[in-house]
Amino acid sequence: MPEIIPSPDANYLMDLLKKIISFKTVAPPGSNYQEIVDWLVPIFREMGFATQKMVMPKEVFAAKCSDPRLVGDRFNLRADLSVGAEKTLVIYAHLDVVPAEGNWDSDPFQAVAKNGRIYGRGVSDCKGSIAALIAALKALLESGKPKYNLSILLTTDEEVGGYSGLCYLTDLGQVKGDLMLCMDGFSDDVVIGSNGIITWDVVVHGRSSHSGSSFLGINAVERSIPVMDALMNLKKVVQARRSLLPASTALEAMGKKNLMPILNITMINGGIKENIVPDRCTLRGDRRVIPEESMDEALAEIERTLKPLDIDFDLKFYPGYPPMSVNPDHPWVLEVREAVQRGMGFFPRLSGAQGSLDQAYATEKTGIPTCVFGVGRQLESNIHGLNENVRVADLNGFARFLIELLRA
Ligand SMILES: [Zn+2]
Repeated sequence: MPEIIPSPDANYLMDLLKKIISFKTVAPPGSNYQEIVDWLVPIFREMGFATQKMVMPKEVFAAKCSDPRLVGDRFNLRADLSVGAEKTLVIYAHLDVVPAEGNWDSDPFQAVAKNGRIYGRGVSDCKGSIAALIAALKALLESGKPKYNLSILLTTDEEVGGYSGLCYLTDLGQVKGDLMLCMDGFSDDVVIGSNGIITWDVVVHGRSSHSGSSFLGINAVERSIPVMDALMNLKKVVQARRSLLPASTALEAMGKKNLMPILNITMINGGIKENIVPDRCTLRGDRRVIPEESMDEALAEIERTLKPLDIDFDLKFYPGYPPMSVNPDHPWVLEVREAVQRGMGFFPRLSGAQGSLDQAYATEKTGIPTCVFGVGRQLESNIHGLNENVRVADLNGFARFLIELLRA
């Protein structure tokens, strides 16, 4: 008898996606989390999953989520299916989307199909993958059971770099399994690494005076110039480094072959009036850390660069997500790539992300080998932009990939 491979129902997938997009889980402020989780719970229950709504307690929220733009309860969903398998696969995606301002061609919260694509806020990042996951599970469970126990985590506030989602669940010990698939990615490559991020600020101090006798004061804006010069020299050193990890397909097309570290000055703030010598100037920026570097060494390097300057300043660091690097030879990586080959018809490259992922926090703390693969194309889906879209073929292909990954 020929093997019958379960096939996702494309209409069901589309209906799911339309409904999921209609929840305005925009972050900030991060709203409608309870509504979307309450809608998802019965869908997973009907498929035999045990579900847990994990709401972040108000005091933890107050202590860990200082962003004043975030309001309301943080509902995360964990859905588990135990099939008596030896290994458990954790599957992660976030429920929130970035705001949808500007002149969209159609309502961003009413997913619309046009020319082989679906348009809507979050169709690619990353609600399309959630719709595909449900459609894949439904097809798979109707005819059999997955080869792994499943632990699905659908979380909050990823788009604001928040703590309330995957990081919170990680610290609670709720990220438990042997393998992990992060669906917050693209269909271009299987991502097995990412840069870490440190934001920093330097406050340069001066002394204010009348600008007509500016020699009586110390001009903090002008004194920031040597600080910026020193940082720009360090930038050259830092950005000449390369990771062994290949860059994404999209960046490779622009000549960036490997993941690289970054140092930016992105904000400058100083002075109150043209005729007042400013007593304070603040520079802010970030540092992206490749997996081969260490977060601590990146901080120390900036400190060493600025210390010799004869300038009164305060330097502060705000370390964010660490870098991530999964062994490319881990069998899980090959398993994911082969499932892509069977489900979507191509053998994907491996690459690293220049950006920083909350997944990296979970991977570092749990040690679970992780692949990042999702729906959407880096150069065409316009993620976070106007008319975000995804190829219908990719959505259905992603559901087939999941079936290939999960079927026994
Ligand atoms: Zn995302």
